[in-house]
Amino acid sequence: MSKLRFRVVETAFKKKAIEAPAPEERPSEYFAKYVFNRSKMFKYLPSKVYEKLVDVIDNGSTLDRSIAGDVAAGMKKWAMEMGATHYTHWFHPLTEGTAEKHDAFIEHDGKGGVLEEFSGKLLVQQEPDASSFPNGGIRNTFEARGYTAWDPSSPAFIVDDTLCIPTIFISYTGESLDYKAPLLKALRAVDKAAVDVCRYFNGDVKKVFSYLGWEQEYFLVDEGLYAARPDLLLTGRTLMGHDSAKNQQLEDHYFGAIPTRVASFMKELEIEALKLGIPVKTRHNEVAPNQFELAPVFEECNLAVDHNMLVMALMRKISRRHGFRVLLHEKPFKGINGSGKHNNWSLGTDTGLLLMAPGKSPEDNLRFITFVVNTLMAVYRHNGLLKASISSATNAHRLGANEAPPAIISSFLGKQVSQVLDYIENSGKDELISLAGKQGMKPDIPQIPELMIDNTDRNRTSPFAFTGNRFEFRAVGSEANCASAMIVLNTAVAEQLILFKKDVDALIGKGEPKVAAILDVIRKYIRICKPIHFDGNGYSEEWKAEALARGLDCETSVPLIFDNYLKPETIAMFETAGIMNKKELEARNEVKWETYTKKIQIEARVLGDLAMNHIVPVATQYQTDLINNVYKMKDLYPEEKWKKLSGKNMELIEEIADHTTYIKEHVDAMTEARKVANRIESEREKAIAYHDRIAPMLEEIRYHIDKLELIVDNQMWTLPKYRELLFIR
Ligand code: ADP
Ligand code: MG
Repeated sequence: MSKLRFRVVETAFKKKAIEAPAPEERPSEYFAKYVFNRSKMFKYLPSKVYEKLVDVIDNGSTLDRSIAGDVAAGMKKWAMEMGATHYTHWFHPLTEGTAEKHDAFIEHDGKGGVLEEFSGKLLVQQEPDASSFPNGGIRNTFEARGYTAWDPSSPAFIVDDTLCIPTIFISYTGESLDYKAPLLKALRAVDKAAVDVCRYFNGDVKKVFSYLGWEQEYFLVDEGLYAARPDLLLTGRTLMGHDSAKNQQLEDHYFGAIPTRVASFMKELEIEALKLGIPVKTRHNEVAPNQFELAPVFEECNLAVDHNMLVMALMRKISRRHGFRVLLHEKPFKGINGSGKHNNWSLGTDTGLLLMAPGKSPEDNLRFITFVVNTLMAVYRHNGLLKASISSATNAHRLGANEAPPAIISSFLGKQVSQVLDYIENSGKDELISLAGKQGMKPDIPQIPELMIDNTDRNRTSPFAFTGNRFEFRAVGSEANCASAMIVLNTAVAEQLILFKKDVDALIGKGEPKVAAILDVIRKYIRICKPIHFDGNGYSEEWKAEALARGLDCETSVPLIFDNYLKPETIAMFETAGIMNKKELEARNEVKWETYTKKIQIEARVLGDLAMNHIVPVATQYQTDLINNVYKMKDLYPEEKWKKLSGKNMELIEEIADHTTYIKEHVDAMTEARKVANRIESEREKAIAYHDRIAPMLEEIRYHIDKLELIVDNQMWTLPKYRELLFIR
């Protein structure tokens, strides 16, 4: 082992678990300690202001600026009591992270001193000097204004010494430059459309919430080993590295005992998350070595998205305190499972009903079927767009590989729901009417109450699986902002529910009874959206062929998948719902293409550097050792014997020469290909060039590096290997 590698590997293996600080109290006592939630609002705000604010949060009524001053004063008082000295607007620009710029509470007091200030104006709106955030050309740098505006529906919180205020981020001309603004609009759209449909079943419903329960997968790697892998450090994944002899074959990691060092990291992470009001619940080992998962109890979608962003930030911070680095990349290691984020999604009413859960009465079940079928229709009609919403340069390594959802969106329903849909589809109208006549309101639906929530069969190969009372969108990338998928899903379902209501009302208008009209439309939809329903093995080759025949989007090139955002039906959907206009969609796609290009570009540079100054020199040195050996053997032995004894080494010398030559030539070719691609003006075309020409070269070069890793003396190899990176002790 090289001295450097020996040192980092040794220290990594010697590291002891750092005890997580013992919590002073029970979770129920410190939960949301750092959140300006309702109980704190109640305590710190005048009662009139509290009522108005709660009305804004619960009923989406317009925020009256006149209350901002009082809210800011209450927030500041609470924050200062908690030891905060700064505040920041916290937002989600079109990068993978969040953004914040801290300001101290201080202002001049006019008498030569300072006092703590935080006005309503500062709470409601700010103008960050934000010309350097991705904006797809919406803001030229000379008119770089962007505004952040307070989102009262997600409570303010404190991290370290800073009061963080969740905000949306928009341009001077009103276009959204972030994930939150369109998400809030999409949530409103689905709320309204779903309430209208709920009225067929229950007049009391006033609000429909979209719920999100994410499951976050991640890897941990020892900090010392991480530091010795420039590729991990700079790109988030290993660009080279031969399989470890043992990896996940034995399936002994999944749900296995959590290593002590990891457990103490998890414990501290959970305590900190709970203090921020994030209801973290589940933790376990995942399939791959060093891979883990964390999941909270589901929450209202906007809050859940914020909480996911916060958890990722907490992971990054707390892992370092335990001598780890967290890898949120979708595919940090080749040959073993990558990480995703399962987005469990459902709709629920203010009356406490989950709309996608079967109920006890036939009326409940008609409602259940209505929402399930409309979701399927939405997913069917926008399957390409949904795929675009989860596509990225990094997630591309995961999708379509034999361990993650395939790069084709389809929906798994399970045996029972499939049977119900078949039954409805095939039962004739007459039969329904006669039955409806006999049983009053009751439609002819088989006993759905039999469908026990926990009994639905599972299908790990489906990207969009029904799981009892919700759908699980499993194709989301581990480092993605959940909002991207949630904007598309909620908007598509909103659009679909509006169409459904139109269709049903038209039949009612013609004199058809309500239940019969609903069933008629549902029956029609079941037939239309059939192609999206697939309960089989999503990994199989046959499915790829069949999906193509069914007309589903089977494109695998990420830059081309992004085109879905600019299809006429997508633009129409977003514009009609008032969520984003064509200009915004175009700008966001520019950002997506640009980001795609930059990611591959960075990887190509890093691989080129490592190949030329780590791999080739080390391989050449080892080759020189072999050559010396061969020469010395020649002095020692007669010709025949020498030939026999040195044959293997001669072969190795040649093999190394073949690999290093290939690497050198192809690193040069890759640089040339990059130069050509960089000259392309259009972001879309440039991204396509990076996808088609440069990304494959990374794999080709890697193949030869990984071969060399097997040949070259372990003592000389500078980079920690998979077998060292992947097993925390
Ligand atoms: P599994 O690994 O079996 O998919 P987990 O328990 O790890 O399940 O995670 C399930 C996630 O789904 C949790 O975040 C949970 O809160 C969430 N969830 C459960 N019911 C719903 C629902 N109706 N709507 C949205 N999310 C839900
Ligand atoms: Mg799951």
